Amino acid sequence: MKVDIVGDIHGCYQELMDLLMKLGYQWSEGNIYHPDNRQLAFVGDLADRGPCSLDVIRFVYHVVIELKQGFYVPGNHCDKLYRYFLGNKVIPQHGLETTIAEYQELSTQEQEIVKKMMITLYEQAPLYQVIHKIDTVIAHAGIPEKYIGRNDKKVKTFVLYGDITGETLHDGRPVRRDWAQHYQGSHWIVYGHTPVLEPRFVNHTVNIDTGCVFGNRLSAFRLPEEHIVSVHSQQPFIQEKFS
Ligand code: MN
Repeated sequence: MKVDIVGDIHGCYQELMDLLMKLGYQWSEGNIYHPDNRQLAFVGDLADRGPCSLDVIRFVYHVVIELKQGFYVPGNHCDKLYRYFLGNKVIPQHGLETTIAEYQELSTQEQEIVKKMMITLYEQAPLYQVIHKIDTVIAHAGIPEKYIGRNDKKVKTFVLYGDITGETLHDGRPVRRDWAQHYQGSHWIVYGHTPVLEPRFVNHTVNIDTGCVFGNRLSAFRLPEEHIVSVHSQQPFIQEKFS
């Protein structure tokens, strides 16, 4: 089994298409496929902040739900958008406002379709994806070894938000513990959530959120090859978003 795991997309649909081209994906009668029989996986945070969030949702729905040729785990932004679509009261900030603006441009009929896509994607997704054949676990903000196999609320908070302490930094960002430093497992943990300028490899874990929506790159981690493939972002570069 060969898998290409894609980092946080955040509405950067054009960069996603560029990346898939670079990875060798092709289209036949509107369906994406890879001549080497590779599959796609997504670490979550499909929408918010970028220009084409709804196109990213439609594409991931196509791959994961319609073709059943890929894997998707939700990110914190997916969780919030899902709750918005359910009619819950969520504050349209931190990028959600851009996705809502796109949504409000649609006809009622188109709105129903994309809303249903996101709800289905989210409800059918596991909190984290274990892929035994490539000895890999995919979780949006990562996962410590002791949580693999569990699905409780504590695990949900961790995989969506990371190892947060509840405190915030002076710029408002949450304080996070560095769980990867303590990871001693043998399987790959592939995750995103915290934008980094270069993919960050620590103890058989890799953060592949190379901050595309903040102007850096969109990256994929290929397994079993253990190669990174990236494309340049077309968004303006915002240095302070990178840690
Ligand atoms: Mn993100």
